[in-house]
Amino acid sequence: MSRSPYSSPAVSETGDPLLLTPGPLTTSRTVKAAMVHDWGSRDANFIEINRSVLKRLAAIANGGDEWVTVPMQGSGTFAVEAMLTTFVPADGEVLVLINGAYGKRAKRILEIAGRKTVVHETPEDTPPDLAQVEALLASRPSITHVFTVHCETTAGILNPIARIGALAARYGKGYLVDSMSAFGALPVDVRAMHIDAVAASSNKCIEGVPGLGFVICRRDALARTQGNATTLVLDLHDQSSNIEKTSQYRFTPPTHVIVAFHQALDEFDAEGGVAGRGARYRNNCRILLDGMRALGFQPLLPDALQAPIIVTFHMPDDPRFVFQRFYDNLKARGYVIYPGKLTVADSFRIGCIGRIGEREMRAALAAIGEVLEEMGITGDVAKTA
Ligand SMILES: *Cc1c(COP(=O)(O)O)cnc(C)c1O
Repeated sequence: MSRSPYSSPAVSETGDPLLLTPGPLTTSRTVKAAMVHDWGSRDANFIEINRSVLKRLAAIANGGDEWVTVPMQGSGTFAVEAMLTTFVPADGEVLVLINGAYGKRAKRILEIAGRKTVVHETPEDTPPDLAQVEALLASRPSITHVFTVHCETTAGILNPIARIGALAARYGKGYLVDSMSAFGALPVDVRAMHIDAVAASSNKCIEGVPGLGFVICRRDALARTQGNATTLVLDLHDQSSNIEKTSQYRFTPPTHVIVAFHQALDEFDAEGGVAGRGARYRNNCRILLDGMRALGFQPLLPDALQAPIIVTFHMPDDPRFVFQRFYDNLKARGYVIYPGKLTVADSFRIGCIGRIGEREMRAALAAIGEVLEEMGITGDVAKTA
């Protein structure tokens, strides 16, 4: 077994454990420092910061003047629910592509809202079958929208959102995307991908703090959604009209979160936008995969399906490998990992996003090697199984 030569102290800028999770993530000291002021929501400076945040988010998705970013207070799911319940009318029917918990959640949202769904479900390690998707679109004219998840964070799989968008466009369907865990790290091009609306949040690949979701909407599609909403607070049409008329959110905005998000966007631009951020995460992911394989762990996904966001590893069979102990001992060394959520395999996950780079990934691998030794596993963890 090859052990990393790096030692493993906790290395976050504030001395907090590093969050190797899918969000909230480790953020920079400067993003956190942006929150030490109080802002009035009607303050001209705050309004300008908010305007700049919304404009920059649409630009990241290649949305020009025909697109608008509508913010939604709350976690990412609030934005997904706002998108689905605003865009899908009472007589709509959504083809929901499911290969993990977030696709299932979208179906549940639509059911609660009383919207019809048709499901194409594949296992968590399998992308949708596009021939079957096309067959459904061709045979069911009642379908009005297609919904998919960009990186399905459950397994960390990358779904083919451009090819699904091309199918939705060919059959004249609306196209709604949950890009929560990928937005900012993997390209989203709302025009080229025929997207009507895409949802994401402040606390994933843009590396802000939690508290704000947003939906980038095609203006003409959003204009046709008046009256669709099933709740007051999650009505994107109303939120958007209000912001355009008054520059104000309808209800208290998370001011500190938005100012920190603005700082996070400055740091995102300084890193080179999607290309720069994506490159750092791909490098993190490669170091993680190489290092874990060297220790004997097996990733769930083949490299071609692996998004550089979060990696799922099979739980080793070795009886000396006790996940809770593994987790606790890593946490004690300053690294927080994530349990698995799969039905296809017993697993755990390690994220490669947030304010972490090569040094932190190598230090985490060194810590993992040490913890294996503490558990009495001195050889290759898979070979001892
Ligand atoms: C994180 C995430 C969400 C939103 O989760 P919240 O806990 O509500 O922030 C939605 N979809 C995907 C794919 C995610 O990774």
